[in-house]
Amino acid sequence: MTELDGFEQDRTGWGGSGAYTSPVDLLTLHTTEGNGIEGARSTLNQHGSQPHVLVEARAAKGRRKIQMVDLDRAAKALRNQAGGIQTNKNGTLQIELVGFAAHPENLTEDDWLWFGREVVGPMCRAKGIPLQAPLGFHPYPPPGHQLGREPWRVVGDDGDTIQGIVGHQNWRENVHGDPGDLSAPLYRSGTTSAIDLILEGADAPTPTPPTPKPEGLLMALTDDEQAELLAKIRDLHEQWIGKQVDAKDESLRQLLKTIGTRTSDLVTGKRPGR
Ligand SMILES: [Zn+2]
Repeated sequence: MTELDGFEQDRTGWGGSGAYTSPVDLLTLHTTEGNGIEGARSTLNQHGSQPHVLVEARAAKGRRKIQMVDLDRAAKALRNQAGGIQTNKNGTLQIELVGFAAHPENLTEDDWLWFGREVVGPMCRAKGIPLQAPLGFHPYPPPGHQLGREPWRVVGDDGDTIQGIVGHQNWRENVHGDPGDLSAPLYRSGTTSAIDLILEGADAPTPTPPTPKPEGLLMALTDDEQAELLAKIRDLHEQWIGKQVDAKDESLRQLLKTIGTRTSDLVTGKRPGR
C-alpha cells in the first residue's frame, strides 16, 4: 500500500478499480468542474469515480489534499468501456483538481507552484513517473474539434510510449476536455504556463538544451574537416595580409582589406558585421 505523507485520507473507495495492467508511468490530470472540494468529494464517492487524489490548490479557498485511492491500485476517474482499451488500469495515477477546465487562470502562479511541489512532485516520485508533459495541453472546449475526436487524444494506444503528465483530454475512449489549456502562457508577463509552474514547483529537471552546432556549411563537416578548412583559411589570411602591403591600386587594397577582415571574423568565429 502506498500512502502519501501529509495528505488527508478518504477510504470510501480506497481499493480503486483493482490492479494495474501495465507499469505506472503516467499521471492524468482532471478538473472537477465545480468550485467546492466537499461537493466534489461526495459526487466522486457516490459515482464510484474516485481519483487517487482530490486537491484544492487555491490558497484563497483554503488548500487541501485528500488521498482517495491507494497508489498501488488503479483509480476510477476515467471512463472505461467494456471490450475497449484499458484506461484506469493502464498505468496511470490520477488527480482531480478542484476548478474548471475553461479557467486555468483561476489559480494564481503561487497556487500552481504549490500544486507542483506538494502534490504532483511527490506523486510522480512515489511511482517513478517522469516529471515531464510530453503532449502539452489544449483549450476546453477544443477549438475546431468535436469533443472525443481531437487529434491529441492519443493515450491508451496499445504499446504507446507516452510517459509523464497528461490530461483526461488525451485519453482515448473518453470525451472530456479537462483539465483545459495548462500550456497557455498566462503567467509572468505571458512567458510561463500552468504546466511550466507545476514542473518548476515539482523541481523537475530542466530539459538539456541541444548541443549548439555550427550553422550552414560548417554543419555538414566533421570536426577534422572543420579544423582542416580553418587551417587553410588561416594560411590564406596570412597571405592576404602580405599582399595588402604590396598592393598599389587603392580599390584592390580595399578589396583585400575587406576579405582580410571577413576571413579573420570567420577564423575567430565572429559574426560578420554590416
Ligand atoms: Zn476528467
